[in-house]
Amino acid sequence: MESNKQVVKICTHCGNETLMNQIASKINNWDEGYGYYGWDNTILLQCPVCKKMTLIQESYDSAIGSYIDEYGNEKDYIEEIQLYPMLKMNFNNVPKEINNTYNSALRIKNITPEISIIALRKTLELICNNQKAEGKNLESKINDLCKKEIFSSKLKDISKITKKFGNLEAHENIKVNNTELNYLFDFVTYIIEYLYVIPCRINELENKLNDLSKIKNKEKF
Ligand SMILES: [Zn+2]
Repeated sequence: MESNKQVVKICTHCGNETLMNQIASKINNWDEGYGYYGWDNTILLQCPVCKKMTLIQESYDSAIGSYIDEYGNEKDYIEEIQLYPMLKMNFNNVPKEINNTYNSALRIKNITPEISIIALRKTLELICNNQKAEGKNLESKINDLCKKEIFSSKLKDISKITKKFGNLEAHENIKVNNTELNYLFDFVTYIIEYLYVIPCRINELENKLNDLSKIKNKEKF
């Protein structure tokens, strides 16, 4: 489905606010009856500056209703989320401050990588403090958590990572390439999942298994 529609948007690849070209779109209508209906529209956009693609989804849900715009007209409330590039990670069970700092780093990753990496470093610092790491700088705090086996000893590249983040303290001009930044993001994401998300999922699984065995025991009697 080609179209020549254009949408004003900030491109999260290159940071330009520009008229993006709509390359394709697909509407999915749904109707559950009783006046409850809506639609989802998935739209592929291309930035005219960097030529990269962005995927968004607009959704309408009759239960959410409408709002009055600045000209006094009633408008349907349409929710828009960006599916790609991803701007938000929804972590479960992660302390709020860590979650917020990580997501602010993620939002600006492709736009201002040099600020993004500072926010990412801050995320790692918050994690260390939350885990009660001892040490006078980030590197020694991470080493402390490795020693206490809070960070897995299998993180064989940890020294490379801490060195990179450590350099941020010393130099004002930060230069990171895309591959490096992705690597650092992967690392911090892994740490968050390892420390907060996975233990919570294991707990949920154990609770489910407990419930199941309770039901089975009841069935025996
Ligand atoms: Zn762009």
